[in-house]
Amino acid sequence: MPAHDVLIIGAGLAGQRAALAAAEHGANVAIMSKVHPVRSHSVAAAGGINAAISVDDDWRSHAYDTVKGSDYLGDQDAIEVMCSEAPHEVMHLEHIGVTFHRNDSGELDLRAFGGASLKRTAYVADITGQAMLHVLYEQLMMHHETVQRYEEWFTTSLLIGEDGQCAGVIARDVRSGRLEAFTAKNVILACGGAGQVYKPTTNGLIVTGDGIAIAYRAGAPLMDMEMVQYHPTTLVETGILITEGARGEGAHLLNSNGERFMEKMAPNKMELASRDVVSRAEQIEINEGRGVGPDGSGIYLDVTVVPRRRTLEALREIVNLGRDFAGVDITREPVMIRPGQHYIMGGVKTDIDGRTPIDGLYAAGEVACVSVHGGNRLGANSLLDTLIFGRRAGEHAARRASQMPMPRANTKAQLQTDAARIDAIIARPHEGRRVSEIKNELGEVMNRHAAVFRDEQGLRSAQEAIARMREESERAWIDDRGTIFNQDVLGAIELGFMVDCAETTVVAALERKESRGAQFRTDYPERNDEQWLKHIDLTLGGGDGPQVTYSPVTITQWQPEERKY
Ligand SMILES: Cc1cc2nc3c(=O)[nH]c(=O)nc-3n(C[C@H](O)[C@H](O)[C@H](O)COP(=O)(O)OP(=O)(O)OC[C@H]3O[C@@H](n4cnc5c(N)ncnc54)[C@H](O)[C@@H]3O)c2cc1C
Repeated sequence: MPAHDVLIIGAGLAGQRAALAAAEHGANVAIMSKVHPVRSHSVAAAGGINAAISVDDDWRSHAYDTVKGSDYLGDQDAIEVMCSEAPHEVMHLEHIGVTFHRNDSGELDLRAFGGASLKRTAYVADITGQAMLHVLYEQLMMHHETVQRYEEWFTTSLLIGEDGQCAGVIARDVRSGRLEAFTAKNVILACGGAGQVYKPTTNGLIVTGDGIAIAYRAGAPLMDMEMVQYHPTTLVETGILITEGARGEGAHLLNSNGERFMEKMAPNKMELASRDVVSRAEQIEINEGRGVGPDGSGIYLDVTVVPRRRTLEALREIVNLGRDFAGVDITREPVMIRPGQHYIMGGVKTDIDGRTPIDGLYAAGEVACVSVHGGNRLGANSLLDTLIFGRRAGEHAARRASQMPMPRANTKAQLQTDAARIDAIIARPHEGRRVSEIKNELGEVMNRHAAVFRDEQGLRSAQEAIARMREESERAWIDDRGTIFNQDVLGAIELGFMVDCAETTVVAALERKESRGAQFRTDYPERNDEQWLKHIDLTLGGGDGPQVTYSPVTITQWQPEERKY
């Protein structure tokens, strides 16, 4: 049976950064991913990564912007860690080979991004995630003697030892269908977010909330699950993301009257207010009949105001996306966009070293909630979050591993449970609904009721629909009964994970009876610091669904104030 000091589930930026850090600290490391590592969703990240590296900037300004962007729900101790360590982390990436864009003087160029007081986003055109992910993968290759890679292995559950600590995972080899137990002194979940719970979403098909559900089922608390980010610029037809880098370069948002409506909501920052504010402003224009397109469900993003040469140099990927997916040359005419699900601020609750309350279990990246994003993430702060907390989790886990023996767990029993679960899925009769049908309905329900605007009635109807879909998903049938690359069986397991994520999102959204950050309750339209300046934590109660508790927001130097852009 494979055994490792540090076993990392997920090979996106958080996972690879954790693996590199743990290996550099002398640990015997393994990294597991359900897809080839460089196909992890981090590869899609476009616009850039924030760090106060310009001589005019200061990490405290970055931290303040992040606190304000979070609508004061972010934990300020964690935000201070992230922002103060950011410049060193970005320079480290530069030194190991990420070809960040440079200006005419040869310095790292920085672009404007939403909610930032000044330009602080380093970028590689609009393929920043791809550039970073490939460089980290090359670095991992250099550690091939101490970093074992389990590529195309799907983790089904955590192994919890007799003493309650995490002792490894159970995983299925996607290529052969073989199920195996992996023991580990420490497991770091770096499985990414849960965008596929929504339809449409900017997230790829693999982003199904696996790590969140796996941790939750093992007893780890989730935090800030109600906070789901809608990105202001996603293509109307497909939900594909047009990076905030476009507005950072100067693009305008226009309604059907040709007005730059952001003037009403954010007269100072205009299109570069934080994402929750811009998405809400767009949705108001659409709801009040000033949208564009045949059914008025869009807004125009006008990139033509950016010099064409600059667009072709710094935004070339969205030129391709506009052409291929909307049939529009964005350098010559506006493109129709609307707010679309993009990111989840919530996730597995951790401390600033990635530790969860379960000994030996860590989480980092979008799967985790430290919470640095609170009610709303600033653009280009997620890549930073993955690297800072991925590294810190890797280092901490490596240190912990050096001081302990390999934990013991009843691997046989857990293996049998997971094998029986998979066998039962494969044996389901062709009755009831298909996995894909339920998944589509789940996404549409969430997009209708747990989106930019929410209210009690809508959330209650989502909750009822999710309860029904949970039952249906436990009987949903699949076509492929084989073992080799059986994506059907994985899809059925993922559907169960997504139902857990949807349920916890809706429960938390119902619980928070105020409007803050990405959660706008039309029935409670004001922010209410007196009652709700606190995190909502959810744990799986014995058979009764999510149990709600609260935890305080950590405030160090920035007291809550009215948020204006
Ligand atoms: C289109 C787009 C553009 C973006 N642009 C930016 C940007 O410019 N700047 C920014 O800061 N943020 C951006 N973001 C957000 C950012 O890219 C993500 O939040 C971040 O990359 C998540 O990284 P991660 O390492 O946490 O997870 P991911 O990169 O999603 O990796 C998850 C890993 O977990 C593995 N995994 C999942 N489940 C299992 C399982 N059951 N078993 C085994 N392995 C599993 C996957 O295979 C994968 O390797 C963007 C997001 C999108 C969708």
